Amino acid sequence: MTVLVLGDQLTRQVGPLADRPDERVLMVEAREFAARHPYHPHKRTLVASAMRHFRDALRDAGRAVDYHVVETFADGLDAHFDAHPGDSLTVMRPSSHGAADRLRDLVTERGGTLDVVENELFLCSPAEFDDWYAENSLQHEDFYRWMRRETGYLLEDGDPVGGAWNFDEANRETPPTDYEAPEIPEYPPDETTKRVQREWSERDTDEWADPEAFRWPVTRADALDALADFCEHRLPDFGPYEDAMVTEEWALDHALLSPALNLGLLHPAEVAEAAIDAYHEREDVPVESVEGFVRQIIGWREFVRHVYRVGMPNLADANRLDAERALPDVYWDGDTEMACLATAIEGVRERGYAHHIQRLMVLSNFGLLYGVDPHELNRWFHVAFVDGYHWVSTPNTVEMGQYAADLFATKPYAASANYIERMSDHCAECPYDPDATVGDDACPFNALYWDFLADHEDELRSNHRMGLVYGHLDDKRDADELAGIRERAADVREGVRSGDVERE
Ligand code: FAD
Ligand code: SF4
Repeated sequence: MTVLVLGDQLTRQVGPLADRPDERVLMVEAREFAARHPYHPHKRTLVASAMRHFRDALRDAGRAVDYHVVETFADGLDAHFDAHPGDSLTVMRPSSHGAADRLRDLVTERGGTLDVVENELFLCSPAEFDDWYAENSLQHEDFYRWMRRETGYLLEDGDPVGGAWNFDEANRETPPTDYEAPEIPEYPPDETTKRVQREWSERDTDEWADPEAFRWPVTRADALDALADFCEHRLPDFGPYEDAMVTEEWALDHALLSPALNLGLLHPAEVAEAAIDAYHEREDVPVESVEGFVRQIIGWREFVRHVYRVGMPNLADANRLDAERALPDVYWDGDTEMACLATAIEGVRERGYAHHIQRLMVLSNFGLLYGVDPHELNRWFHVAFVDGYHWVSTPNTVEMGQYAADLFATKPYAASANYIERMSDHCAECPYDPDATVGDDACPFNALYWDFLADHEDELRSNHRMGLVYGHLDDKRDADELAGIRERAADVREGVRSGDVERE
């Protein structure tokens, strides 16, 4: 009897490792899997180093761990079943669609058995979600309120603390120009991490980041430290500045906890509860910050996990706007004068991270307006980010960002420079003019935005949430401006496609 621990299930707090303290542990570090895509080197380092630290912690605690560094997962299973013929494995359900079946086939072919048990690294089980979904439509806000009731988080006598379920209105501020965000803790490479980096250095031909700059927690102790640091220093301003973008503040007040959460080093319950404790114990944490944060953890994160589950396999191929352009090189090289795009991509290249509003309103918005194939963009998000996994990048990119699947998005997240100028300081430093739509200096987002609306008029005009913007499009058409705007959009697309996005 053996507990199989997958690379994104690094927990002893819940699941089979907690329930079966005497069983042997099997872990497989498969190189071919990590080499299948041009993953960000920090992502490869993060996963392999966290797995090795987890192995060492288990051994230190007296557990027998068989750890195989092999080319393929099948090689790892071969080695295991050679040593333990006919063994029975237990594993928490993998988060990727179809992975449990593939795993079972591999194990059965080698004469073993596989018991797939619930993945306890989430708060809401598939059965609980399916019961809820049987009575409700796929709307995040309804799910979130239900989760608040289920968990009892931020409730007082059954009512939401602060008198409202949602303080979204208070989450849209921008910091003053002299604002300095708190310092971010770093967890630089230790010996285990450096060894992983050395082992990968020959294979990582497509270096796009400095390995030395690796900074993410790879142990539970460091992940807990990162959680405590966030609650102490950044949680107070998290709410107000959640949607803001500041050129010199790559993290602003974001938690930076998704890499640790997605590996299993932190459990979402302890993360939400740490923030709630800080709110109750301190004066400086406003309700809009704690509520905004808890909403991300018990609302959005759990919701997209189940959207993926119920939406797959169709979600993987969905493309309701028929967007088919290839992903332009700028996503890989960041070579553009567009300040907002360059800043976000530079952050991704440097550290495999951009915060949510950069992902949604810059990186994804640009792809949507440009007309990139949603699945090419999803692949980029999946491989370029340290927290990128298929279960979470797919619903976020394909559905929320690209409006491709008709699952929960009520309108596309499409925006012109108007939004980016309001929520960031990028436009002030950008050579493009955020107020212009045509002309060589005009912000590329603007012409692309109107062109997108015109292109998808049949699909989107009837959406009541789009009425106002289609009214503005009509004004442009009536004023004979639309043809010029569409010409500018075609030029921008051609420039982006050919890599020549420079102004004339
Ligand atoms: P914070 O802003 O501090 O939020 C706190 C936590 O809430 C995050 O750590 C995360 O666990 C959770 N969270 C918030 N929003 C979401 C969401 N929409 N989906 C899932 N979890 C959420 N997140 C990933 O973990 N992996 C991805 O591959 C990923 N791809 C994305 C692609 C696009 C196009 C978009 C728009 C969002 C994507 N997200 C993804 C969601 C979100 O942007 C990140 O979870 C967040 O930016 C992580 O940084 P943070 O820990 O500083 O988050
Ligand atoms: Fe981005 Fe346009 Fe603003 Fe430049 S002007 S930062 S391209 S939104």
